[in-house]
Amino acid sequence: MKYTGPIYRPPYEANTLLLQVTVGCAHNKCTFCSMYREVKFSTERIEQVEEDLQEAQMRYPNTRRIFLVNGDAFVLSAKRLKPIAELVHKYLPKVSVITMYASINNIKGKTDEELAELKKLGIDELWIGAETGHAATLDYHKKGFTLEDSYEQLERLNKSGIRFYFGFMFGAAGKGKGIENAVATAKIINTVKPLGIVPTTLGAFGETELALDVEKGIFEPATEAEVLEEQKKLIELVEVETFYMGIHSLNPVSFDAKLPEQKVAIIQKIDDMINRMDRSILESVQKRRSV
Ligand code: SF4
Repeated sequence: MKYTGPIYRPPYEANTLLLQVTVGCAHNKCTFCSMYREVKFSTERIEQVEEDLQEAQMRYPNTRRIFLVNGDAFVLSAKRLKPIAELVHKYLPKVSVITMYASINNIKGKTDEELAELKKLGIDELWIGAETGHAATLDYHKKGFTLEDSYEQLERLNKSGIRFYFGFMFGAAGKGKGIENAVATAKIINTVKPLGIVPTTLGAFGETELALDVEKGIFEPATEAEVLEEQKKLIELVEVETFYMGIHSLNPVSFDAKLPEQKVAIIQKIDDMINRMDRSILESVQKRRSV
């Protein structure tokens, strides 16, 4: 299999076959992201994709799930994604789910008919970097879409039947705004009803725009205590049935849970963590490293 540049996938796809269809990220402008900063975006040739699938057929013939690499692979037009999905089924006939990272703008770029067609071809789970339900925070982080776009495009995805995981960040709104961010993010989650919600925690890494803003005092990061209170508030407010998929090295408390059933138990778990943590840590801004 040919892989070019840095490869990232959700921790939950650790056992999924990775097939590269794009290199880097087509957007590559989010304030906090250093993942593909040095990589020029390009698409993989269909001949190479087919070669990789031929190799996968020999080495992993029982593959049932496949993750299309890279940062926003759903940026590929339906016209390009269709032959890729067809080749996946040709060489790996047991595959039932084709999944990948997607931006809200990638959904916007496809018609309802195209989304329905992609769903029929097995493109049935997307990992969406929605980040927040708080309009000003979304705007600050330069995701390239508005909150209205998020509501609208995720509803379109629901209508097409394509399921999705809603990725978001605790601490995204900065110091003193954690509860506001939790309330707004819970609101969109309750409206668009994702299959799973996938939190990470904002970190100001190395050379990112966010790190520079922190240095200049333009963005003030949330303390650990604020992040934990935000986490509690969000969990408290989520009313729809969804999976809380919080196992990530950036999160101060990492766990999975079924919501809303396990709400009380996990809020208790976070409270226990707060009670056990040293006051100096709670009041500090923890350094988080890119993964
Ligand atoms: S967060 Fe996602 S969309 Fe934004 S630059 Fe990084 S990979 Fe691209």
